[in-house]
Amino acid sequence: MDKSKPKLEPLEITCTSTDCASNLHCFKFHKKKMTADKKGACRSCGIKLVDWNRVHKRNIKDIAYTFKSLKYELIRHHNWHIDIDLRAMNHARRKGKKLMRIAAEKRIRSSVAPANPPRDGTQTPREGNIIYYAQHGTACCCRKCIEYWHDIPQGRELNVDEIQYFTDLILDYIRDRLPDLKEEGVYVPKIKS
Ligand SMILES: [Zn+2]
Ligand SMILES: [Zn+2]
Repeated sequence: MDKSKPKLEPLEITCTSTDCASNLHCFKFHKKKMTADKKGACRSCGIKLVDWNRVHKRNIKDIAYTFKSLKYELIRHHNWHIDIDLRAMNHARRKGKKLMRIAAEKRIRSSVAPANPPRDGTQTPREGNIIYYAQHGTACCCRKCIEYWHDIPQGRELNVDEIQYFTDLILDYIRDRLPDLKEEGVYVPKIKS
């Protein structure tokens, strides 16, 4: 083996990854490296792409703009485009849209609605349920992302309207990613191991 060539590691995408040349950024505020006037700009290249006042209104009727803005961020963009794993896909098909809505609300309540959710920042897995993909894609994966994307301070419980809003975002994400998903669940045979 040729040891002089470094092995290409698979790209590990984290919340703070950027690929600014591809117009994929990270808008998370960097307290140590950024001055207050840079808040909302990309932490790597400084570009300002998002009208934060508009996104922070959390208006479901303006969801197209919110989704467009989310996709400027590398971690969100990644979660809007990666393949949904088979287990998650089958789970969604078995439930159908109606039950997915109930599951999404339940997940928001348990993972991010408490004032101080346990393991905040790492509580949302990467795969196994389309709701997880949706949470990363719409920035309701943890209270840190909720704070800068949706303007809800950490350290207090989410209210009913906020829980409803995030449930709506998740359902719209699912509609976008699985446009053929039925209202009611369908029979999907188990994956043979
Ligand atoms: Zn950038
Ligand atoms: Zn997060």
